[in-house]
Amino acid sequence: MGRDLRSAQYLEALGLESWVLRRPAAPLAWAPSAPLPPPPPLPGRVPGSAADWRALADEVAACVRCRLHERRTQTVFGVGDPGAELLVIGEAPGADEDRQGEPFVGRSGQLLNSMLLAAGWPRARVYIANIIKCRPPDNRDPLPEEVRCCMPYLHRQIDLLGPRLMLAVGRVAAQTLLATDTPIGKLRGAVHHFGTRGTPLIVTYHPAYLLRSPREKRRAWDDLRFVRRELACRRAAAPGGSA
Ligand code: URA
Repeated sequence: MGRDLRSAQYLEALGLESWVLRRPAAPLAWAPSAPLPPPPPLPGRVPGSAADWRALADEVAACVRCRLHERRTQTVFGVGDPGAELLVIGEAPGADEDRQGEPFVGRSGQLLNSMLLAAGWPRARVYIANIIKCRPPDNRDPLPEEVRCCMPYLHRQIDLLGPRLMLAVGRVAAQTLLATDTPIGKLRGAVHHFGTRGTPLIVTYHPAYLLRSPREKRRAWDDLRFVRRELACRRAAAPGGSA
């Protein structure tokens, strides 16, 4: 499949197709490139072992730290490449995720997949997790106590993965990770830092919000381009790294 056709298909999935049609010949600053080639080995990052990941997943699967366990079908641990340089963090599982045991598999997940692919990452090349591992009833926001109980699991996932960059999708993920109540619109467009390692963290809108407010997809696309640029810089700056 030609690169132009593939880009047009990604943009169509994002609902941005009309922008391409208006200026078909120009190299558009916001247009996605073809998917990136496989990433180089990541110097300085030592991902956790399969046994460490298994042990953590088993612990999460048996978790009864808060009352969300009472109504779950199953926990939703996380999914993706355990050597990924990009960690995407959402809020909590919804009904589809609770049923399938995997984050972002419903309508929001389809949009998230398209956005990531348009920016150069097939879903399998990143790691995706949530702040909360069990579905809150009626998709309500997680309670502070639920976040307090569940965050240690995410911290351990981050330690095992050692991502080069984290992308928080949505208000709950962004405000929880950054321990702030600053509105998401003000958190976008900057590189924040998370945890004792100071892992770079960028914020964007939640795909569920983008489904309700498609005009904001353009801003989300800007955020993903920002992530791509930051990752390329950090890869190049790593010992022995190259852009
Ligand atoms: N929304 C989220 O934040 N996470 C999911 O896994 C699904 C929907």
